Amino acid sequence: MTKISSLGYPRLGENREWKKLIESYWAKKISSEELAAGAKKLRLAFLKKQLDAGLDFVPVGDFSLYDHILDLSVQFNIIPKRFADQTIDIDLYFAIARGNKDNVASSMKKWFNTNYHYIVPEWSKQKPKLTNNRLLDLYLEAREVVGDKAKPVITGPITYVALSTGIEDFTAAVKSLLPLYKQIFTELTQAGASYIQVDEPIFVTDEGEKYLEAAKSVYAYFAKEIPQAKLIFQTYFEALIDAQILSQLPVAAFGLDFVHGLEENLEAIQSGVFKDKEIFAGLVDGRNIWASDFTRTSELLKELKANAAEIFIQPSCSLLHVPVTTKNETDLEPVLRHGLAFADEKLREIRLLAERLDGKENSAYDQHLAHFAALQAADFRNVELENLDHVATKRHSDYAKRRELQQERLHLPLLPTTTIGSFPQSQEIRKTRLAWKRGEISDQAYHDFINAEIERWIRIQEDLDLDVLVHGEFERVDMVEFFGQKLAGFTTTKWGWVQSYGSRAVKPPIIYGDVQHIEPITIKETVYAQSLTDRPVKGMLTGPITITNWSFERTDIPRDQLFNQIGLAIKDEIKLLEDAGIAIIQVDEAALREGLPLRKDKQKAYLDDAVHAFHIATSSVKDNTQIHTHMCYSKFDEIIDSIRALDADVISIETSRSHGDIIKSFETAVYPLGIGLGVYDIHSPRVPTKEEVVANIERPLRQLSPKQFWVNPDCGLKTRQEAETIAALKVLVAATKEVRQKLGK
Ligand code: GLN
Ligand code: ZN
Repeated sequence: MTKISSLGYPRLGENREWKKLIESYWAKKISSEELAAGAKKLRLAFLKKQLDAGLDFVPVGDFSLYDHILDLSVQFNIIPKRFADQTIDIDLYFAIARGNKDNVASSMKKWFNTNYHYIVPEWSKQKPKLTNNRLLDLYLEAREVVGDKAKPVITGPITYVALSTGIEDFTAAVKSLLPLYKQIFTELTQAGASYIQVDEPIFVTDEGEKYLEAAKSVYAYFAKEIPQAKLIFQTYFEALIDAQILSQLPVAAFGLDFVHGLEENLEAIQSGVFKDKEIFAGLVDGRNIWASDFTRTSELLKELKANAAEIFIQPSCSLLHVPVTTKNETDLEPVLRHGLAFADEKLREIRLLAERLDGKENSAYDQHLAHFAALQAADFRNVELENLDHVATKRHSDYAKRRELQQERLHLPLLPTTTIGSFPQSQEIRKTRLAWKRGEISDQAYHDFINAEIERWIRIQEDLDLDVLVHGEFERVDMVEFFGQKLAGFTTTKWGWVQSYGSRAVKPPIIYGDVQHIEPITIKETVYAQSLTDRPVKGMLTGPITITNWSFERTDIPRDQLFNQIGLAIKDEIKLLEDAGIAIIQVDEAALREGLPLRKDKQKAYLDDAVHAFHIATSSVKDNTQIHTHMCYSKFDEIIDSIRALDADVISIETSRSHGDIIKSFETAVYPLGIGLGVYDIHSPRVPTKEEVVANIERPLRQLSPKQFWVNPDCGLKTRQEAETIAALKVLVAATKEVRQKLGK
């Protein structure tokens, strides 16, 4: 009988019970005992569900009250120095994650190429030691429910250290943790654990190359010290960086991703290096929400089976990255709904695949095949789209010429000032939107309210004396969801939440069909705003790559086709804005950098495709229409060439958090187009001083001409309060005027 496994289960709960539990503790509505009891209840329910799904290996220890990397840091005593003299308890744990009145939080980073954020471990010469028996306790608790099917899960030492900051000597840091891992593994095996899943995803990244020697010695140490522990060397999100070497590690089994690292991992398997090894095969996509293609997967399974000692079937990664269940999504069209698989449905798929492999006839399997086929054949997936051959992918004239024509039209001063798009979404806005959604107020009343807000903010911006105004994005909850709601090919779910960081969850739209522009998206608000003022109002759109990266995307067509489809739709919206007289249009690509593939050899194709789709969206405009773009919170230095290739007339980039990097990029490479390097951090309610802002304008002016420089905040101002926003923008304008004056002399 083929056994089935999983790597981790969503924490949020079907109705986001987990989020509510944790937030009630933060709001002091429940005690720490109630928090612990509530968490236990959820954990047990999740275990039971996975047991009932037929799993032979049920993950334990993946559950967390915030983040699994933070769990390890606290367990290992890698507590940031500024928190060091406090008692280690749940409040300290949350304080490291969220900050408290005395100390700032640890920073968070994206977990590989997902939208999940982990808390970065901060090393500062602490002595690693075990501060608790967390994993053992969870294992013992789980045994009560699932017996010896419990499979402990832990992030491995090399990945843990690789994701840390403050490491002086990598080898020494890893070494200092080994006795701790040894103790944890020993306790677990003594308590009855056989397999232990050790996550080492760093070995699918280019960086993993550096740690191959470390892997050899670390896993040799475990094999020698705790031979009774059966370790699964688990990777995901890509193929192993070096299967020849890694397959020789003395571990009991390897967990490999055959969805996102299919080609290379399959090649490795076929080469025979895993011939005598047990393989936990990731065959069902743990990161996307589509039902599996059983025909392909079954063939792949046979291939794997022939090349390994034993195959266990599992998702490609932890199910943390998908919502819980499709069963409550009753508003979706049945063809679509049956073509989806969230966490619970994925567990079911795994079971069906295993049963079929064992030769068991099961009508559910055949029904799945039928559902899958129906989705592929659906007419919304096979629309006749505009022929790309007739779409411009290059602006009419070069930048110098465009600049001249745009300036003739816009008459902007030196160092034009602007914002990134959104203004504070007040309590009142949220309340009114909710009332409208519930049908308590009419469409007309809601739109009047939005218009009043737009008008109020146009006046505020005029009073501030900003040069390029925005309408404020009051009608949008989210910059991607908003477009998803108005483009064909997208849908939104009711309960499709996934954890982004801490208790924060996002509900990505689903791109299920061919994307098309079917109605004006932003015209009404933008045109209304422009009608109120003589200053230019900037149209505000989200770009094709950001829309894709922040959605659950369809995978039945090549990704570049999807980018292009969305690019075409954005082109249509831009045309409407242009025809309505809007002279400046911003196409945000905030998530361009985060979609960068983990491996260098795949990055170029992604970036080329991204630039191409941006060109499709933006190249058809007149020379005197000014295209802006915006990016934030990423490392830009590696993609600076692509940023330039976008050929946007102006880019605004967040700068405060990555100041050094950005400025460095511009020292080594000439940036020829318009650029605004954010002059203040929008994450803090603190109002910057004029001196700071002046300095932040003048510093880049050492590399960049004042003729190309714009002055703007780092990002949208949606999360800020009104008073502080106005105060900060006042400073921004005053500082700009001061620098202009100095330049005039
Ligand atoms: N235009 C968007 C805003 O201002 C951009 C947000 C973002 O970059 N994340 O809110
Ligand atoms: Zn931004």
